[in-house]
Amino acid sequence: MKNVPLYLAGEFVQSQTSDWIDVTNPATNEVIARAPAATDAEMRKAIESAADAFRTWKEVPVSERARVMLRYQALLKEHHDEIAEILSQETGKTFDDAKGDVWRGIEVVEHAANVASLMMGETVGNVARSVDTHSWIQPLGVCAGITPFNFPAMIPLWMFPMAIACGNTFILKPSEQDPLTPMRLTELFEEAGAPKGVLQVVHGGKEQVDVLLTDPVIKAVSFVGSVPVGRYIYETGTRNMKRVQSFAGAKNHMVIMPDADKQQVLNALVGASVGAAGQRCMAISVAVFVGEAQSWIPELKEAMTKVRPGAWNDSGASYGPVISPKARERVESLIATGEAQGANLLLDGRGCTVDGLPDGNWIGPTLFSGVTTEMNIYNEEIFGPVLACMEEANLEDAISLINKSPYGNGVSIFTSSGGAARKFQHEIEVGQVGVNIPIPVPLPFFSFTGWKGSFYGDQHAYGKQAVRFYTETKTVTSRWFSSEATAEAEANFSIQLR
Ligand code: NAD
Repeated sequence: MKNVPLYLAGEFVQSQTSDWIDVTNPATNEVIARAPAATDAEMRKAIESAADAFRTWKEVPVSERARVMLRYQALLKEHHDEIAEILSQETGKTFDDAKGDVWRGIEVVEHAANVASLMMGETVGNVARSVDTHSWIQPLGVCAGITPFNFPAMIPLWMFPMAIACGNTFILKPSEQDPLTPMRLTELFEEAGAPKGVLQVVHGGKEQVDVLLTDPVIKAVSFVGSVPVGRYIYETGTRNMKRVQSFAGAKNHMVIMPDADKQQVLNALVGASVGAAGQRCMAISVAVFVGEAQSWIPELKEAMTKVRPGAWNDSGASYGPVISPKARERVESLIATGEAQGANLLLDGRGCTVDGLPDGNWIGPTLFSGVTTEMNIYNEEIFGPVLACMEEANLEDAISLINKSPYGNGVSIFTSSGGAARKFQHEIEVGQVGVNIPIPVPLPFFSFTGWKGSFYGDQHAYGKQAVRFYTETKTVTSRWFSSEATAEAEANFSIQLR
């Protein structure tokens, strides 16, 4: 049995805790490792060592910090498949999907390597006679990140490379459900030449998170996870006077106009709803068919019947198991509620089995039609391979439906009309919009910009907004004199006084 280490002050150490959390393979429910709930002394050590390291790291020139990211990017690429294999085993993701998780993280590291240009300030010369003003951005200090189970490579990599490239030090508390991938990322970060103490990794749950949310040394907290925890993190962190960005749950709609390309729609809907077993914060969980497009629902059902879950290395599987037996029970109970509340259950994924893997958390593709806004399957984030179909008479009504949703992470429209696409992207109250693209996750030179109940905070993840989040602006106004200018400045000063 592998005991997952902590990473404190630049050393991988075994925790002294008596409280261990099982890490399982969701395809078998076999325990593959144990993660420690870090003790209070270990949490203190992480914070103190991050504070110590900040004193020297902030003085390291920006180009040297960027070079650590360049070496890290090369190492992540070299170990890409090996990381994806670890990730597949602890999340159940298919190998292709796991590789995508790693790759999207590598792209953020590439972006972090451009940190010098991202940290450029502003200058205005001669704001008054002989007076110039410039602004710098400087790191905040110790920052912390709390990450979810569903992207154990990409989401930690949204956070610590950007924060550290900006000159901060960082404490990562990854999901206790899949800590092996973040630990491998940490080993490679050390190998890339990151100095001791710049990154710390602690494990645990609420108790450990509470230390990070309340300790005055920590200046900023990044969180990605569910809505209730996201709200708690935002409220507690800001009450403790920290800067907080909190990315939370979602319910993403895709609007299908009757003039859309039907085959594209069907392919996109299947992949975006059941891909990764629906465990993506940008998964499409509601399909809104406008007008005659609703006649495509039987063909959607047929397309969904053809996909099935399976093991990470089963090339015929479209997706893997859900993360835990508890998650499976929750999704299955929501399916039962949907049926009880009157939705048409066209495909029922409950009781799904996979040959040779009788103990996995499998759920088959599940499709509902006739879903209404009062139903739990509409209001709750299901986080499983379940797609709810709704019908609206026109685009106006589809926009109005989506704008009433408390969530605002991602949305998509499929159409061949530029006018409809423009109206949609202009009027929709959601932070990330796809036009004929089902999952519009931006590349790292933009930012990941969820809205409404899907995000609490001001500055978003990666891109220029992350640099603003992890830095403080200092504005310097200075006056230097040449002897002639001095005389002139003094003359002007005395004129002003008169
Ligand atoms: P979660 O909220 O259960 O856990 C996230 C993190 O918070 C974990 O590290 C966990 O240990 C910690 N945590 C759990 N309970 C806590 C508590 N009471 N107090 C303090 N910390 C606590 O989320 P999850 O199940 O790991 O991840 C799935 C959720 O994440 C989904 O809702 C999904 O939509 C969301 N998500 C959002 C985005 C986004 O960008 N908006 C991206 C990925 C995932």
